[in-house]
Amino acid sequence: TPARRPLMAGNWKMNLNHREANLLIQKLAASLNEKQLTDVETVVLPPYTDLRTVQTLVDGDKLLIGYGAQDLSPHKGGAYTGEISAALLTALGCTYVVVGHSERRTYHHEDDALVNAKAKAALASELTPIVCVGEGLDIREQDGQVAYVRGQLDGSLAGLTAEQVAKLVVAYEPVWAIGTGKTATPENAQEVCGAIRQRLAEVHGQETADQVRVLYGGSVKAANIAAIMAQPDVDGALVGGASLDAEEFAQICRFP
Ligand code: PEP
Repeated sequence: TPARRPLMAGNWKMNLNHREANLLIQKLAASLNEKQLTDVETVVLPPYTDLRTVQTLVDGDKLLIGYGAQDLSPHKGGAYTGEISAALLTALGCTYVVVGHSERRTYHHEDDALVNAKAKAALASELTPIVCVGEGLDIREQDGQVAYVRGQLDGSLAGLTAEQVAKLVVAYEPVWAIGTGKTATPENAQEVCGAIRQRLAEVHGQETADQVRVLYGGSVKAANIAAIMAQPDVDGALVGGASLDAEEFAQICRFP
């Protein structure tokens, strides 16, 4: 199986204005050396309003830090007030975009069909979608997480070719672990991340499945990242709260 480069992605959610973003990126860049940034792919996902600032810093100082957005429109462009297209994001140098975050699924009623359309819009513009899946507490309490996540995965990736699937990232984020301080155990994370890869292999072949990076997300901190990363099917983390502190996020990126 090919080695998958670890990916740490910081989801800032609706936090940090462009001045605060500027400061955080500078601190992050100062805390990580070239080898660390080469060994572990480091990505930030700020609010849209920070992207131009992040681009200016990354380009100006040739930083080995990637960036992207937390959502995008499924539409190419036109009369969609308040929406942001894939083309607008790539014009700012974005390489990643989150689709189907549980907060979008919950507060904006995004279903798998919409997440699928967004993933397709991203791929059509050469943006790498980070497709989020994950069960709520009710499903976890009935031990239904594997079947539930498999269903979300099938729906969210419907109609994609193996070539497209090979390029994307899947993030397993159990809803009960997001922002709650309740991290899944490494075994919990492995169970579902392994099932995700197995499902990708069933649908698209093992070679494709082996290329896909599967992240864990949910209360990841510097203190628990190493144990989570020790799991064979966990290739990185989607980090919320802990990514708002430059030193904490840098420590997460330095996990090896
Ligand atoms: C997230 O929202 O993607 C997330 C994992 O949040 P937190 O790390 O704060 O639980």
